[in-house]
Amino acid sequence: MKRTYFLLMCSMLAYFYLEAQITDPKATEVWEPEPRVVTPGQGTNAPSDAIILFDGTNLDEWSNKDGAAAGWTVGDGAMTVKKGTGIVKTKRNFGSVQLHLEWRTPAEVVSEGQGRGNSGVFLNGIYEVQVLDSYNNRTYSNGQAASIYKQYMPLVNACKPPGEWQTYDIIYMQPQFNKDGVKVKSGTLTVIQNGILVQNNIEIKGTTPYIGLPKNPAHGDGPLLLQDHGNPVSYRNIWVREL
Ligand code: MG
Repeated sequence: MKRTYFLLMCSMLAYFYLEAQITDPKATEVWEPEPRVVTPGQGTNAPSDAIILFDGTNLDEWSNKDGAAAGWTVGDGAMTVKKGTGIVKTKRNFGSVQLHLEWRTPAEVVSEGQGRGNSGVFLNGIYEVQVLDSYNNRTYSNGQAASIYKQYMPLVNACKPPGEWQTYDIIYMQPQFNKDGVKVKSGTLTVIQNGILVQNNIEIKGTTPYIGLPKNPAHGDGPLLLQDHGNPVSYRNIWVREL
């Protein structure tokens, strides 16, 4: 105990001594390395170092679940779920990313709850950020738009009315697994919807199944995936920055 107290006093004295020695403001300036330059895009368009995944013209960056041609329709600068053709996923794999995309649920409201404008953005192919028409459409809170499906409800409901374009800006940091495949660090997600913070650096609990508990299979990089839940949800202006 005495020794601990002695060491604590020594370190405090050393700190105050060093602090007293710093009289030059330049002594605390850091010049190296210098952050590289990234040129911002106009509005929500891609910055200079982003990979553009969908610019409104074609599905070249996308495939279906089997790796064959993506079956969704492209028109009016958007890609739209074609019911029954299944998910679309990126041909490239990604780890931690900053992702921007815009989505629109159908203007015509034909059902309620989870059946109204349901789709989803899956990070690493397995962690779903819910896409749903949650404008005056009550469902379970951890399954509404911008929820981390069945794990975290959004901080607020930031939804625009059906038929309007909405933005997601997502920061995803991959989980880490040791060589035995055990998760040693959780992945995290931050989501900004229409400029409003809706998920603040949450720790992902695992996969986001409809039924059952999250699972934590070891994985490396994976595709970004968009869900076909049978509703004609549209997407546009999709770009990603690798982190
Ligand atoms: Mg969904």
